[in-house]
Amino acid sequence: MDAHKNDLRDLSTDQLLARRRAAAARLGDVEQVLSGTLTEQSRRCGRPGCRCAAGEPHGPYAYFTARPAGRGRARYVPASQEEAVRRCLQRDAEVRSTLAEISAINAELLARRELE
Ligand SMILES: [Zn+2]
Repeated sequence: MDAHKNDLRDLSTDQLLARRRAAAARLGDVEQVLSGTLTEQSRRCGRPGCRCAAGEPHGPYAYFTARPAGRGRARYVPASQEEAVRRCLQRDAEVRSTLAEISAINAELLARRELE
């Protein structure tokens, strides 16, 4: 993190603005973002004589927990939606990382009294 800040300090203002513009362009389409975590859990159904009672649980099933926590706890994610959830979580991480980079550039511009 400190190394990254030092990088920015070493750049000219023109270079900072070019990097900021490139980062903003990289943001692109931001519709496919999803903040939260995807976890997998195995379950026991409780039916006597089921294979899960003998230590072979059902699943694993996917569960999504929104961040910030919306309507509470983890919600079941059907298999048909799992790939979309993973894709959107990945996109969310990319967008956050890019926004953090733009913010760091703007903080450096502020330090130079050149933020506009
Ligand atoms: Zn069972």
